Amino acid sequence: MSIAERFQLQYGGRPDGVFSAPGRVNLIGEHTDYNNGLVLPFAIDARAQVAVRRIDEPVIRVVSVQREGAVIEAPLSVLRPGTAAATGWPAYLLGTAWALIEAGIDVPGAELALDSAVPVGAGLSSSAAVECATALALSTIAEVRLTPADLARLAQRAENAFVGVPTGLMDQMASAGCRAGHLLFFDVGAGTTENIPFDPAANGLQVLVIDTGVHHSLADGEYAKRRASCEWAAELLGLNTLRDITDAGEALARLGSPASGLPAADRELLVRRVRHVLSENGRVFDVVQRLRAGDIAGIGADLTESHISMRDDYEISSIELDTAVDAALGAGALGARMTGGGFGGSAIALVPSQDAARVAEAVDRAFAAAGFAAPTSRHFTPADGARRES
Ligand code: ADP
Ligand code: MG
Repeated sequence: MSIAERFQLQYGGRPDGVFSAPGRVNLIGEHTDYNNGLVLPFAIDARAQVAVRRIDEPVIRVVSVQREGAVIEAPLSVLRPGTAAATGWPAYLLGTAWALIEAGIDVPGAELALDSAVPVGAGLSSSAAVECATALALSTIAEVRLTPADLARLAQRAENAFVGVPTGLMDQMASAGCRAGHLLFFDVGAGTTENIPFDPAANGLQVLVIDTGVHHSLADGEYAKRRASCEWAAELLGLNTLRDITDAGEALARLGSPASGLPAADRELLVRRVRHVLSENGRVFDVVQRLRAGDIAGIGADLTESHISMRDDYEISSIELDTAVDAALGAGALGARMTGGGFGGSAIALVPSQDAARVAEAVDRAFAAAGFAAPTSRHFTPADGARRES
């Protein structure tokens, strides 16, 4: 059933429009966005679709095909963080309405129906897909045109302040601003984006996405802890963010020095956390340079080094993610890394197309041998960001 038909079944009558936004895979640049650093995601050809209709009552109604059940309704006047509206899955849609209102947009009453093909909790950002599709739907019926960057910022505001998850801007920027056949090179500190052509298939390659099936919840503390460590390190260095470090060696030496007065364990931890952020920015830059030079196969080493950095320095991997990466590399992947926030979700592997099935099978076998539940390997094509469908 199409989302328009589903809307009709739920609310009676046709929607005013259908809008969609994709999930994303981050090729490289992990936990750099909230440090004002560099990220390089692409949107995937799996999307959240939102059908919307303007109504005369001052309420927002939401229903999700993936959350079979009653329609959830909230009066526009009570949409505020910390209220009952800000709990559970409806918060992603209601919070987006709140963020638009807070930004001064005159959001009318509306009925929304959501249907998403983005796997939840797999590190593919199903949350940003829902927020960006909702933001485009609501801003359109409010007759306001938003740039992809504005759409992303409002969606992030909904997730940070209303849902209560302190994510950076990468996911929403990817979902709003990506282009088919391209990566999005987003320099968060500079506020600039560039669509970089990315066609692995033309080079006989593909990006295999391996969902470990272990579903993380970003709300559960570790993500916030990493963020807090970075903020603490920046403060100790007298900087606003880690992006403002100009001499990596000197900054790491200062953080590691007993002169800071911190216990040795804290110093050692901060050095490793900051080293990941600095080295990861360097790898994103290297990948962009290689892609500009047409050297897709050459990015493999950067991907694998990124994984090692996240495993050892940033400590956000998991036994399942490490198993997927090691098995993929052992079966001929040119590079592999966990992607997304970590602690579960998905790994990616850059593989010769003719070896993709063999790599996926090797990962399956490694999971079975370790006693883990079977993973799911998929292949996505870089897709367009948020758009109107009808
Ligand atoms: P992800 O890595 O997939 O973004 P998050 O924990 O950030 O994981 O977001 C997942 C949450 O987004 C779900 O728990 C749910 O609340 C909401 N969500 C995503 N897709 C849907 C959907 N189709 N219907 C209802 N809620 C959804
Ligand atoms: Mg998310």
